[in-house]
Amino acid sequence: MNKNEECAIFQDLYDLYMEEEVEGESKQWMMEHEANCTHCQKGKIEREEKPVLHEDSEKIWGIRIMTTMIYCLFFLLSIWMSIWYLW
Ligand SMILES: [Zn+2]
Repeated sequence: MNKNEECAIFQDLYDLYMEEEVEGESKQWMMEHEANCTHCQKGKIEREEKPVLHEDSEKIWGIRIMTTMIYCLFFLLSIWMSIWYLW
């Protein structure tokens, strides 16, 4: 195995490793690789900070836009209805 392959395997197993689902020799190998590989230590920090935040703020924006649109729709509908009734 060369360095890039090791890192690819480490990245693949990392989620399982964090959930303690990697056992025995694999876990030992993961711990050693994590300790010795600056590339994966750096990647780990980026993985933990970025994707979650990005996904959450996207979801919040989606919900906000939906809620605003629904409010606007009801508002316009109620105006239209009251005009229609009064006419
Ligand atoms: Zn690595």
